[in-house]
Amino acid sequence: MIVVQKYGGSSVANADKIRAVAKRIAETAKKAQTVVIVSAMGNTTDELIHLAKEIADVPDGREMDKLLATGEQASSALMTMALQSLGQPAVSLTGGQAGIITERVFNKARIVRVAPNRIKQELDEGNVVVVAGFQGITENASWADITTLGRGGSDTTAVAIAAALKASSCEIYTDVDGVFTADPRVVVDAQKLPSISYEEMLEMASQGARVMHSRAVELAELYDVEILVANSAKNVPGTLIKKEDPNMEIRNPVRAIPHDADVARLTISSVPDKPGIAYKIFHALADRNINVDVIVQNVSSDGVTDLSFTVTGADLPAAQSVLRGVVSEIGAKSLNTDVDVAKVAIVGTGIRSHPGYADRMFGALAEAGINILSITTSEIRITCLIRREDVQLAVRALHKTFKLEKPQA
Ligand code: ADP
Ligand code: ASP
Ligand code: MG
Repeated sequence: MIVVQKYGGSSVANADKIRAVAKRIAETAKKAQTVVIVSAMGNTTDELIHLAKEIADVPDGREMDKLLATGEQASSALMTMALQSLGQPAVSLTGGQAGIITERVFNKARIVRVAPNRIKQELDEGNVVVVAGFQGITENASWADITTLGRGGSDTTAVAIAAALKASSCEIYTDVDGVFTADPRVVVDAQKLPSISYEEMLEMASQGARVMHSRAVELAELYDVEILVANSAKNVPGTLIKKEDPNMEIRNPVRAIPHDADVARLTISSVPDKPGIAYKIFHALADRNINVDVIVQNVSSDGVTDLSFTVTGADLPAAQSVLRGVVSEIGAKSLNTDVDVAKVAIVGTGIRSHPGYADRMFGALAEAGINILSITTSEIRITCLIRREDVQLAVRALHKTFKLEKPQA
């Protein structure tokens, strides 16, 4: 039996926390072969990014990944020392040593495969294997470079390793008790969800509920890995992320209110209304691996139209530099950036089959006096772009409207 456990940055933020987590791991290791994935300690990744920006305006991608990967290398070595001090044999591996092979894209690489031979050998020799999360290595062994998987990517390391080892459980330990109906730091009466479907969790992650990395949820669904999200400092039941539950009929059709205040809206004005223009804009962004969301194109007049969309705060500088070129190439008038926006959404598979959710959502926002800038939907989600200063009020109002403060099935 193999158990995979991942511990996030706040769970390993200092020596005491590392020692406390090591005790839990050593208990698990008495019962099962154990692979541990760790994030960098506390705010290490933020601090390294800050440092890089003091040196270079736009740091080189390859060098950035080499720098950021050190955070997880430090925490994995320290966790291994803590286990060894408890008499538990353990070994730490970098992402590359653990066989995490990625595409050759820096800052946001996708895992192409996992070659877990070294992990298996170390397990068979009786070691707990502590893997540095968030990082991999490019395919070509004689020209291999360190890559990272995007912010929050240690979750993805854990799921990829659990899938490759066909582990009997994949446990993500963090600083909250599980996945909640809203960010518990924003809504005090947010409720823990006993379980949630992959589809719902993916929508939540894509709308800013950072408790799980969205790529991790995608991989889990693809390889049928159930994920337990639980608190690293308590022994209380967490949330199981799994296939849609047949009991969903008895559940609240709206399961959660995710929000994201780390977004920016870009507007390209007076875009010529001709075939191929949207392709040019979005192709240029996709080429740089920049995700866009909440795309709105206005009705055209006089042969021109305005096009706006959102990107995450981290992608904003790259998006601006790509778009400046495109704007002059396509003959649009200008590029404007608004950073004072946020997204708030309602998510739930029940939305698909129950009418009237948009109506109730917009009504609740209107009643709270919140202006909606634009709207996008999927089958199981409605997202509104609003002013950033309104976001906490919006989350609380929607949480109340959809009766999420009661214990959830
Ligand atoms: P870790 O360092 O363990 O990976 P993260 O900071 O990435 O932890 O994710 C945990 C945080 O996610 C919580 O502290 C919480 O503030 C935030 N969060 C946002 N939305 C939710 C939600 N719906 N349920 C639980 N946590 C959420
Ligand atoms: N340390 C990385 C980050 O802060 C990865 C992670 O914690 O999952 O984004
Ligand atoms: Mg995280």
